[in-house]
Amino acid sequence: MKLSTNFWLAEFEHSNVAKRHTPPIDNRVPEALMNNVRKLATVMQSIRDHFNHPVIISSGYRCRDLNRAVRGAPNSDHLYAAAADFIVPAFGDPYYVAKSLERDMNKLGIRQLILEFGHWIHVGVIPVAEINRVLTIDDTGVRIGIHQPE
Ligand SMILES: [Zn+2]
Repeated sequence: MKLSTNFWLAEFEHSNVAKRHTPPIDNRVPEALMNNVRKLATVMQSIRDHFNHPVIISSGYRCRDLNRAVRGAPNSDHLYAAAADFIVPAFGDPYYVAKSLERDMNKLGIRQLILEFGHWIHVGVIPVAEINRVLTIDDTGVRIGIHQPE
């Protein structure tokens, strides 16, 4: 099912961990969360259009079992189909992607922006406290703002 010009529902459901799990984890987005994943796809499309380069999603929706398997935060926005982790390799390293998104996050509909371990970007579409809107998370902990990986 296509959710926007460049994004398919399958991209938000796909998970190698779910696929390889024994038994495999069924990570299909439930009907009750379809509105959330549509909103997420709209924001991801605005990000895709912002860079005009392919956006590669590594994690979108996570059911409880999958979130546990990947040791996700217990109340992660991924559980609600309201967050995606991704890279934009044709644009640049995740740090530069995050810096570029930070400047336009209101326009793009991004409610939370996190640079994680310098390796990928997490975007959430559920409002969070102002202090948690832009974060860098890595081995040194959580910092406010987007920072170069240590
Ligand atoms: Zn994430």
